[in-house]
Amino acid sequence: MEIKDSYDVVVAGGGLAGLTAANRLARAGHSVLLVEQHSQIGGLATYFRRRSHIFDVALHGFPVGMKKSFRKYWGKAFADQVVQVKSIRFDNPQYRLESTFDTADFSTKLTGHFGVDARTVEAFFAAIAAMNYYDSQTETTREFFNRFFPGRTDVWRFLMEPITYANGSTLDEPAISYGIVFGNFMSEGVYTFSGGTDLMLKMMTEELARNGVELETCARAERIVCEGHRVRGIVINGKEIGCRAVVFNGSLPRLVNELVGPDEFAADYLNGLKEVRLSTSSCQVYIGIKEGEKLPFIGDLLFTSTWPEFDSNALLDRHVTSRTYSVYYPEIRPGTNKYSVVASMNARFGDWAAMDKETYRATKAAMIEDTLDALSVHIPNIRQIADYTEAATPCTFRRYTGHMDGATFGTKFEGLPYSMDIHKQVAGLFHAGSVGIIMSGWLGAANYGVIVANEVDRHLSTSNEQ
Ligand SMILES: Cc1cc2nc3c(=O)[nH]c(=O)nc-3n(C[C@H](O)[C@H](O)[C@H](O)COP(=O)(O)OP(=O)(O)OC[C@H]3O[C@@H](n4cnc5c(N)ncnc54)[C@H](O)[C@@H]3O)c2cc1C
Repeated sequence: MEIKDSYDVVVAGGGLAGLTAANRLARAGHSVLLVEQHSQIGGLATYFRRRSHIFDVALHGFPVGMKKSFRKYWGKAFADQVVQVKSIRFDNPQYRLESTFDTADFSTKLTGHFGVDARTVEAFFAAIAAMNYYDSQTETTREFFNRFFPGRTDVWRFLMEPITYANGSTLDEPAISYGIVFGNFMSEGVYTFSGGTDLMLKMMTEELARNGVELETCARAERIVCEGHRVRGIVINGKEIGCRAVVFNGSLPRLVNELVGPDEFAADYLNGLKEVRLSTSSCQVYIGIKEGEKLPFIGDLLFTSTWPEFDSNALLDRHVTSRTYSVYYPEIRPGTNKYSVVASMNARFGDWAAMDKETYRATKAAMIEDTLDALSVHIPNIRQIADYTEAATPCTFRRYTGHMDGATFGTKFEGLPYSMDIHKQVAGLFHAGSVGIIMSGWLGAANYGVIVANEVDRHLSTSNEQ
């Protein structure tokens, strides 16, 4: 498709926030161009094919709220694909148990398995339910846990480790951010998209086309053209396109410093942004199972660790002691007989970026071997039944998404006001993408896309009147 000379709005980045913003803006009647630098949309929430295998990168599970967001912002057909993931297992030196990851089951485990007083558990959930993002953010998650479960590091681990995997957060971040994410996940369990990420992105591509969004892949936003602190256009693969608004879905610091340039921003905004920390990154090992072979049922999600206690530094260490396995049985893609396993680890970009090519390759190969060894505790014949393995590191995530330092959860929570207020610096400039632990993950990113699309809609209506 030939890109036109101008649009009302250009969305740069086809991650869940960018896709959802583009869809909403087109439904509101605006002309929308959506450009994605990679050959495929989805951003971190994507998939890839190798031989006969399909690997989902970020389909471990999402909260029930995603069903409502799919229905409202994408349509009923999307919501109908959402199914519950029922077996979430934990295996570490402090406990071995299985949960459905909802409030009732969490309460039962806390009082039963962990022997916590029922009134304390009730008070904990009541405190979570009462949390509001605009409340004080001074209490840390560590302090919050200490308030209810002093010294109970097994309980902390049970409540915290899955959230750390999902968004890289630590015990030293605001309890409020933890509570809102935990409250979302714990309310009614964990869900997935039946048919896999490939089906979801195919359905999204079709829906975007129906609503009139023009979608271009292998199209990189190189520069945002501004005049007098107002967006005038965007340069895509060397061509300038006119537009009254840009929604950027990639890295926030790159947007400010590289695509727009610091001259358009006030000094206090720039100084504040310098202090915003990026989230950490991830490694993954993808394991495809031979045609005709089967995996035993070991749970849908299996959180494993050999580390004695919850420790966010140990979770990030290159010498891996903790892994989350997402196990994909044929039911995820009804009608197929394929099995695969994706192991996810949190990671630091610096550990991998510092390696020379040869060390990098060898370390990646060793990570695959270690993962197969670790998985053989649960699936003894994994080496015999696997016929494909591959690994991703923070460098892989940087390469495919352009995120600085391969940050897989955007910026830490303090990035949110810089993302939300960017349009006050440059009229028509918007950012929608993972920020903080609330606006990330499938639900956070999609909902943030909607929030930003509503702002863009307001901007386009008022700039129309001028
Ligand atoms: C290993 C892993 C597992 C995860 N598992 C889960 C899970 O189970 N459940 C869950 O809820 N969340 C999970 N997440 C998090 C979730 O996938 C992300 O938070 C969410 O997908 C991020 O969406 P986003 O819109 O912020 O953008 P991203 O996915 O970061 O996408 C940004 C897009 O912008 C594009 N882009 C960047 N710069 C440009 C440019 N200049 N021009 C054009 N395009 C550009 C990129 O190529 C990319 O496609 C996981 C993340 C990782 C890394």
